[in-house]
Amino acid sequence: MPAPIPILMYHQVDAPPPKGTPMRGLVVSPAAFARQMAMLRALGFTGLSMQNLRPYLTGQKTGRVFGITFDDGYENNLRCALPVLQRFGFSSTCYAVADRVGQCNDWDLGRGVPQVPLMTAAQMQAWVDAGQEIGSHTLTHQDLSTLDLAEQRHEIADARVALEALVRQPGGVRNFCYPYGGFDQGAIRCAREAGYDTATTTVRGRVHSQGGGDLLALPRVLVSRTTTCLHLLLKCVTRYEDSRGARVSRP
Ligand SMILES: [Zn+2]
Repeated sequence: MPAPIPILMYHQVDAPPPKGTPMRGLVVSPAAFARQMAMLRALGFTGLSMQNLRPYLTGQKTGRVFGITFDDGYENNLRCALPVLQRFGFSSTCYAVADRVGQCNDWDLGRGVPQVPLMTAAQMQAWVDAGQEIGSHTLTHQDLSTLDLAEQRHEIADARVALEALVRQPGGVRNFCYPYGGFDQGAIRCAREAGYDTATTTVRGRVHSQGGGDLLALPRVLVSRTTTCLHLLLKCVTRYEDSRGARVSRP
């Protein structure tokens, strides 16, 4: 049995906003991110984008690997995370919201979360040209579990088409992430029909199902502002996170 594979879930990498700011926990400092990557590198792990991780998820390849994902497509991923990823030779996937490219995280407005710039098409291209991957995070960042099948199909399939028109990426846009972790059988079906190879959720845990498991509802390991290196190590190499798999966080 190959070791379970952790797929890390990040959002923003930047200097954290002031105390009391809603969702402040989803902003990881560049120094903490660098420490986390250095620790995993020192333990012999290689961080991979979803496209590069896929052969390991299907059991075609084995090795000491983990996935790196960034939700929403923040510009600070390019500015603060990319230099760290390049230092360690890691690849990663940034999931962009197709109809919000070059705008802000307006889906967070009602919750008082600060508005932060999302990558422009040119910035996404720079991300891809630097060896990183753009994935799809729907058109408008709605909770897919609240939509009917036709709306789900629009959000999931049309986002792929829109992102592929914006970014030249070898192989196209093949990997998807459910906003708020909201998904149901209809959303999984739409992701499959749209031709995505993988889809990630906010269900907590590592991927155990290599070689035959469905790759369209993958669990992830949440990394927040307060996640220490020891904590991250426990999440990646022990059953710590798996035992929390029933808990669904909804950032
Ligand atoms: Zn999101």
